Amino acid sequence: RHWETIPNNTFSCISAGCPSREEGIGIGVLVREYGNLSNLDKVYFAFPGELLMRMLKLIILPLIISSMITGVAALDSNISGKIGLRAVVYYFCTTVVAVILGIILVVTIKPGVTQRASDIDRVGSTPEVNTVDALLDLLRNMFPENLVQACFQQYKTKREKVKATSAVDKNSSIFREEPTTIAMTANAPENKTQEYKIVGMYSNGINALGLIVFCLVFGVVIGKMEEKGQVLLDFFNALNEATMRIVQIIMWYMPIGILFLVAGKIIEVEDWEIFRKLGLYMATVLSGLAIHSIIVLPLIYLVIVRKNPFRFAMGMAQALLTALMISSSSATLPVTFRCAEEKNLIDKRITRFVLPVGATINMDGTALYEAVAAIFIAQLNDLELDIGQIVTISVTATAASIGAAGVPQAGLVTMVIVLSAIGLPADDVTLIIAVDWLLDRFRTMVNVLGDAFGTGVVEKLSKKELEQMDVTSEVNIVNPF
Ligand code: ASP
Repeated sequence: RHWETIPNNTFSCISAGCPSREEGIGIGVLVREYGNLSNLDKVYFAFPGELLMRMLKLIILPLIISSMITGVAALDSNISGKIGLRAVVYYFCTTVVAVILGIILVVTIKPGVTQRASDIDRVGSTPEVNTVDALLDLLRNMFPENLVQACFQQYKTKREKVKATSAVDKNSSIFREEPTTIAMTANAPENKTQEYKIVGMYSNGINALGLIVFCLVFGVVIGKMEEKGQVLLDFFNALNEATMRIVQIIMWYMPIGILFLVAGKIIEVEDWEIFRKLGLYMATVLSGLAIHSIIVLPLIYLVIVRKNPFRFAMGMAQALLTALMISSSSATLPVTFRCAEEKNLIDKRITRFVLPVGATINMDGTALYEAVAAIFIAQLNDLELDIGQIVTISVTATAASIGAAGVPQAGLVTMVIVLSAIGLPADDVTLIIAVDWLLDRFRTMVNVLGDAFGTGVVEKLSKKELEQMDVTSEVNIVNPF
């Protein structure tokens, strides 16, 4: 069945009666029950899925670079500024709405009140993050010091414990010891006077934010260079076309990869009991995500665009399902492009420019989840939050979602920022790790939906500018399909 479907349309295979989803779950359950696989066998079993993820991650870099540069260069710089601003404002507002919705739900449902933190098994360890450092890292990532490095490394602060010295102000200041090493006193959750040395460090992963900022400027500049810029623009247009063709090949492999990704995950999960314990928390997050994607986002789209939002969402179905399966909005980007441009017929001058930005900074689902999780953990700890703390949660959850990379479970890491901002032990993130892989899938889906609705809204708001633009700019955008 699977092989028959591929040559016609892999996409319809993924969305309609897709063998990869149901059969992936079915195979996963069967192998789990009767397979008796060792840990190593499980890795081998999940290997085709791992390959799919590798391919999708592989294509992110050329995709972001070529689509951003060609997208921005095709627009007049005044117009691209306006469109960019609209996109950022829309993304920011919807993220704030998502956070508020999450807070209202978790305060009303109170999933953590009936339970105690000690009833829930902790899993894994806590990454060390501090609010100020995380916000600074966000800015550092916007301005990478080395473009090549930005293609494979993201800036992440690493802190090392150091012995207290009288030379360091115990309460605050950061001072520079040498160019790459900063020493500071920081509030460790368990010991307020503990000192840390901050050592500049990079973690692996694409610094999409830094690349986007660079491509934005680069695109505007070559767009203004007229004839000389045309050579570069032709190059990036060709790169864009080639990238999209490779995307098509990856799409062909997608159902197989997804089948093994899903089955591999089902085999791997060890503790199903935890789902019962954290049931109300999960229900709160999931209902928030459902309300945001079924009511809030469609309503905003309806009011502004005045078209049927559900038809639009149906057009994005393949991207949404891909996001659900692979939990990464960046890796879903190639599919998001195809759905927005091919199914929803959004102007390519908008998608090329707005979608990469959205996949990197706009995460409504993640923001909602962060707010719910932080308050849930506060409830588990019997902590009454005052209004100031709730406002702090809204601000940090918004920032944490912007800072989270579009990769699986990135939101769990930035969650620590929200917890430490309201003085909760960062270690408590281990309480929710066990169910995070599941929630991650749904919030990634909402992240992608938010990005997609964003293109529709920005296109509508920018109609006048797009019409004013000369016809040649449209020709610059190559249709790779
Ligand atoms: N997995 C999410 C995404 O890629 C980020 C997160 O919330 O963990 O959009």
